[in-house]
Amino acid sequence: PDHIRAMAQAVKQHPPRAIRGISIRGHIRGHIRGQSDILTLSEKILKYRTDPYPYPDDPYPDPYPDYPHFSGLEPLEITPEMNLAMVGERSNITGSPKFARLIREGDLEAALQIARQQVENGANLIDINMDEGLIDSKAMMVKFLNLVASEPDICRVPIMIDSSKWDVIEAGLKCIQGKGIVNSISMKEGEELFREHARKIQRYGAGMVVMAFDEKGQADTTERRVDICTRAYHILVDELGIDPTDIIFDPNVFPIGTGMEEHRINAVSFIEATRIIRDTLPGVSVSGGISNVSFSFRGNNRVREAIHASFLYHAIEAGLNMAIVNPGMLEVYDEVDPELMKAVEDVVLNRDADATERLIDFAEQIKAEGGGTKKETETQAWRNSTVEERLEHALVKGIIDHIDKDTEEARQKLGKPLLVIEGPLMAGMDVVGDLFGAGKMFLPQVVKSARVMKKAVAYLQPYLEAEKQSGESTSAGKVLLATVKGDVHDIGKNIVGVVLACNNFEVKDIGVMVPCETILKEAREWGADIVGLSGLITPSLDEMVHVAKEMKREGMELPLLVGGATTSKKHTAVKIEPHYDAPAIQVLDASRAVGVVQSLLSGDTDYRRAITIEYEAIRKEHLSGQKAREFQPLEKARANAFSTDWKNYPPPTPTFTGIRAVEATVEELVPYIDWMPYFRTWELNGKFPAILDNPEARSVYDDAQVLLQKIIDEKIFQPRGVYGFFPAARIGDDVRIQLDGRSETFHFLRQQMVKKDDTPNRSLADFIAPKDDYIGAFAVTTGPAVVEMADTFKADHDDYNAILVQAVGDRLAEAFAEYIHKLARDAWGFGTTENLSAEEMIKEKYRGIRPAPGYPACPDHTEKIPLFQALEATARTGIELTESMAMNPPSSVSGLIFSHPEARYFPLGRIDRDQVADYAERKRWTLEEAEKWLAPNLGYGA
Ligand code: SAH
Repeated sequence: PDHIRAMAQAVKQHPPRAIRGISIRGHIRGHIRGQSDILTLSEKILKYRTDPYPYPDDPYPDPYPDYPHFSGLEPLEITPEMNLAMVGERSNITGSPKFARLIREGDLEAALQIARQQVENGANLIDINMDEGLIDSKAMMVKFLNLVASEPDICRVPIMIDSSKWDVIEAGLKCIQGKGIVNSISMKEGEELFREHARKIQRYGAGMVVMAFDEKGQADTTERRVDICTRAYHILVDELGIDPTDIIFDPNVFPIGTGMEEHRINAVSFIEATRIIRDTLPGVSVSGGISNVSFSFRGNNRVREAIHASFLYHAIEAGLNMAIVNPGMLEVYDEVDPELMKAVEDVVLNRDADATERLIDFAEQIKAEGGGTKKETETQAWRNSTVEERLEHALVKGIIDHIDKDTEEARQKLGKPLLVIEGPLMAGMDVVGDLFGAGKMFLPQVVKSARVMKKAVAYLQPYLEAEKQSGESTSAGKVLLATVKGDVHDIGKNIVGVVLACNNFEVKDIGVMVPCETILKEAREWGADIVGLSGLITPSLDEMVHVAKEMKREGMELPLLVGGATTSKKHTAVKIEPHYDAPAIQVLDASRAVGVVQSLLSGDTDYRRAITIEYEAIRKEHLSGQKAREFQPLEKARANAFSTDWKNYPPPTPTFTGIRAVEATVEELVPYIDWMPYFRTWELNGKFPAILDNPEARSVYDDAQVLLQKIIDEKIFQPRGVYGFFPAARIGDDVRIQLDGRSETFHFLRQQMVKKDDTPNRSLADFIAPKDDYIGAFAVTTGPAVVEMADTFKADHDDYNAILVQAVGDRLAEAFAEYIHKLARDAWGFGTTENLSAEEMIKEKYRGIRPAPGYPACPDHTEKIPLFQALEATARTGIELTESMAMNPPSSVSGLIFSHPEARYFPLGRIDRDQVADYAERKRWTLEEAEKWLAPNLGYGA
């Protein structure tokens, strides 16, 4: 029948997989837009990738997704960056007397309120337990879950159905939407029942908590914990084919500080087992019911919270990634009174035989002081400190109560509203950032801190505005500068800003990663005369086009300047200027900026006309050039690939596979610095060291040395890097790599121009053997301290030193890449005999290459996603990718490392539509997505 044919047609055109991918991506985009420009790696994977490409004869099939995924109405991915997924424990009839009473009294509205509060307090999941002898647990579970289902602010998070009775669990599984979790199953009644339950859960599409419990009972030693979980893992994963990310082991949290000798190891053993399980059973999560550990200190919440903070801190460090907790009652590790924390840690970590005695005494003392259950005294105490200390405390604790009053007091004390923000408020946020980075604070707490910050800034807003109005300017003109959304680089822009300011222009730099709306708004409100856009990476070009179009749409006629490494006159002429009514001009160097800005603002119509004519000519040339371009069909280009006799070429084997973190001091990196690009930053040309004869070059060089010495002496930068080797096999123009229990793909492109001589049509894939080869990868950063240090200089109005710091920061990142490349060659073996001078090394006179995504041989910036995935780069180095795939902090470098002796750099050049379509297919992209990311390399009008 017709309608079936039509449906079949529709499915053919939109395979379900693609439909699913798009809807997830749409969702994530919507979610991200309201927040920040930085996407976590997992968000990017959801955003840019769908299911893996089905390679025929894939040597490294990908058996499961990278991180655990669950869902309520919204998806939840448990990434390493999360620190911890928190499961709310309060909607548990056996653990919460209040919840139990409400259920027994039939006040389900109030019971729902408890569930809602947990989500509001930051629970990522909620546990629901109705196990009680006096009620019909199954009926109540069904009833309650159905009520939850109609409360979107509760059921947006995944649900953990908690019961020791299988029929209650199964009834619950039938009610929940999304992908929930069963808590729990185990082998206590033997393997057969365990298998049966696991299979059923798998069929319901849920995850499962597996308790370390077998026929002999609950595991209470490290060894038994690990043994049982390992046995369960093999049954579930190897036998039943269950995705390991759907498995959450609970190695049993038992109380400490009970006074019983054998309980002393309870926390330590749990932590040790967690570490072994996460290390040896790939893909699984580890969870535990945290409150149990402090059970013997019932009635003394202050001690209990301190125990939880310590236990969680050490367990998370060991690999605990989920925990059943009361999210409203988490204490910040560093905020616990040090004396109490010492007493607590001695017990948690089982440091000596008397530890429990001491803690019990201490707890009694706290209780006697009235601090046991209520923190009244403590609550009042912080109010007596200085206003700066109070603001910091409020930020770290997320206390909003006194914020307006304290902010006002600080404003009066410091005199200027900006000083309050830059002083105590920023200091407080720094503490929050540090604690979170160190795993001592959790996301919900951070969100609360941010709220306090926002409130304080909102309070100061009217004062900030009033100050602005009183300032008058006598400038030659107002230039607004911004680095566009998704991009972080701003050295060039800073230099332009300084140069313009020196020429009496009023410059307002609104920073990096600035969304279009903000640029337009600022331009309008500040009354800019010219807008300057900056960007380093190719996706920023698109963003600049977007800004130009929006400015036109809003009827703005301010001249637009564009600058940055990937901008070009051609791109500006072809893609930007036609979309804009006022001049849109590319300015390559800072030194030219002054002339351009002066001409534009002088009302020199000849100048404007000259630009229009020049750009028109560039467009014409571009169009005619395009017709002449000649491509080979992709198949022919592939037939002309670089080839080598793989049979007689045994690829070198590195001394290890997997990833390694590398920490190098600035001092160690200095010898690897290539100074040439440093002078180019300052727009000084010449060869190093001859260039030092130029006094200007000499002076920026000397200043850099002084700065480097300061950075070394005061240990200001902490460079972080990671590198690794992975078994690799080439399949077509892709390279499959094997990771620990999973795989990744690097996608490459191939030159498609017609070659006149007999040179090959190159692709980086050609340098990897069809099998049994290895590929290296690295990511390095000089760290966030570069921008921080630059900002301190900027705050001090010392732009020169600010730029110097950034330029040196970039040099150190490149030097770090060189340093790691040396480690890699040595690990491969051939490096140990290369005997290169520092100069030869900087000139890359060694075997192999380290191409970087976004550079000419592999211009697709999104290949940083598999690269970062393979290296766990964000977790290990702190480098984040922005939505345009820029690395943040800016002084960062990443790339692949090839060992083949004939591997070399080359420019991809332009490619034709057939390859773009082929690439889109391999990357699971639509053609439009491929054309967007490959825009600078398209050889046809798209
Ligand atoms: N010593 C220089 C190194 C950076 S430029 C410095 O300190 O700035 C050279 C680097 O750019 C190479 O090591 C490689 O990572 C990248 N690169 C250069 N040409 C490339 C190409 N054609 N394709 C991919 N990456 C390239």
